[in-house]
Amino acid sequence: MFLTGFTIFFLTSIITFQLNFSLSTIPSSLNSLPLGGHFSFDEFTLSHAATDFGNRYQYHPMVVLHPESVSDIAATIQHIWLMGPSSQLTVAARGHGHSLHGQAQAQGGVVINMESLKVPEMQVHVGNSPYVDVSGGELWINILHETLKYRLAPRSWTDYLHLTVGGTLSNAGVSGQAFRHGPQISNVKQLEIVTGKGEVVNCSKEQNGELFHSVLGGLGQFGIITRARILLEQAPDMVKWIRVLYSDFTAFTRDQEQLISSENSFDYIEGFVIINRTGLLNNWRPSFNPQDPVQASQFNSDGKTLYCLELAKYFTLEEINVVNQEVEMHLSHLNYIPSTLFLTQVNYLDFLDRVHVSEVKLRSKGLWDVPHPWLNLFIPKSKIHQFAEVIFGNILTETSNGPVLIYPVNKSKWDKRTSVVIPEEDIFYLVAFLTSAVPSSNGTDGLEHIISQNKRIVEYCERAQLGVKQYLPHYRSQEEWRAHFGPEWEAFVQRKYVYDPLAILAPGQRIFQKAI
Ligand code: FAD
Repeated sequence: MFLTGFTIFFLTSIITFQLNFSLSTIPSSLNSLPLGGHFSFDEFTLSHAATDFGNRYQYHPMVVLHPESVSDIAATIQHIWLMGPSSQLTVAARGHGHSLHGQAQAQGGVVINMESLKVPEMQVHVGNSPYVDVSGGELWINILHETLKYRLAPRSWTDYLHLTVGGTLSNAGVSGQAFRHGPQISNVKQLEIVTGKGEVVNCSKEQNGELFHSVLGGLGQFGIITRARILLEQAPDMVKWIRVLYSDFTAFTRDQEQLISSENSFDYIEGFVIINRTGLLNNWRPSFNPQDPVQASQFNSDGKTLYCLELAKYFTLEEINVVNQEVEMHLSHLNYIPSTLFLTQVNYLDFLDRVHVSEVKLRSKGLWDVPHPWLNLFIPKSKIHQFAEVIFGNILTETSNGPVLIYPVNKSKWDKRTSVVIPEEDIFYLVAFLTSAVPSSNGTDGLEHIISQNKRIVEYCERAQLGVKQYLPHYRSQEEWRAHFGPEWEAFVQRKYVYDPLAILAPGQRIFQKAI
């Protein structure tokens, strides 16, 4: 009802100054804009903008903008806004294109290649509350390299750093540091946004707070993030990186939950599930050493489902003598299988950029650019046992097609004014099925099988009313989106109405359709 109302309102108000554009005149009308950057219409660029990491959806844009400055983005969006609803043109910001379901694509529309935006130049501010100002198209790996020059670094990460600031802030940005610092969207001080009307707006909690909170976790619906101010902390030099195994899920989650409630135990807490995998311990990167090699070599899982707790403790070179004792002390409170303690020590950069090592390996085997039917879920703590009992070992019978991560976070570190949707409880788990499909396989490693497995998992969660929310959500109909947002739906729609009333932005999320 509400949507229909606002669509009609905009149709009637815009029609008075609507310019009469036909599809064939759009390229030249865009080309006539006075920009520092440029548009590309060539097939190679358009095809690239129609791909993503998910490798399942390909929607070709009409044109790709390579912006040089925020005003290039503002001018383009304002031009499309002034065309009114009849132009049908939509705009998708494309970060590093690592979404899964075409979220950064715009069929027949304009894709903005955010990595071309190099302003502001990265600027690190040292002092009591250090921060860095970056372009929305900057890769997190580049931010890490730059801030480390000052022995500083962002506080909250994703597991993989070859993603852009705008891309992760549009979702949340979650990793093993989130239990302490919250997701990346809890670690931003200021943003510069281009709204769906082409206005450039600076915002923070204190200034234009509604826009600031809307955009964080907002799935690109309310504006394009062109600049962000990211909070920093002192960077450590090294990391103690630890893996221990459990066969008892209750002991595993009890230890995880106890660890995330302590302020000074470890700096990173994650975990993963191991189902029906042989030789895994030998395959861990060579530098992971068993604490007790003899006992570890005798460890036999008997085909049981195992749970690996993954921990990291940061330290500076000055702390090298005390870190071992501290780690030992914290480990002594845990209930893992004693023979399965594996340790390694790496520098901080290598620890944070660890997934890139796997990327290089997979690329060399042609296994990176395959379909990725990933499923990410937020599960309330009170339902995680029920979930595990039904899914692990039953619906999911092996984890050889990709890791299944599982770790808890504290809701108190998430700001409920942002747009991201999370479960109600104080602690909830991220469970991430990060599966790769073997192209053209009809077996359990094939796309069809994995998609149907994901469907069974989602259907079970719905049937059992576990209060689960999808992270990096993907739905096909507005009814499903409405259910995803639940009581927050009206507020989400209202925000859209204010900041992108023609639904020009991020059409690949398939939440709103441009009013035509
Ligand atoms: P894109 O795929 O380019 O864009 C994603 C969405 O954001 C699109 O809707 C797009 O229009 C919008 N968008 C992009 N840039 C902007 C902008 N500047 N302003 C407004 N909207 C914008 N996520 C986690 O939280 N934790 C992880 O540990 C994690 N690990 C990952 C590991 C891998 C290997 C991969 C492929 C993904 C991982 N992700 C993780 C998911 C990732 O954070 C999201 O898919 C993210 O959106 C990808 O960033 P991107 O720059 O590629 O964005």
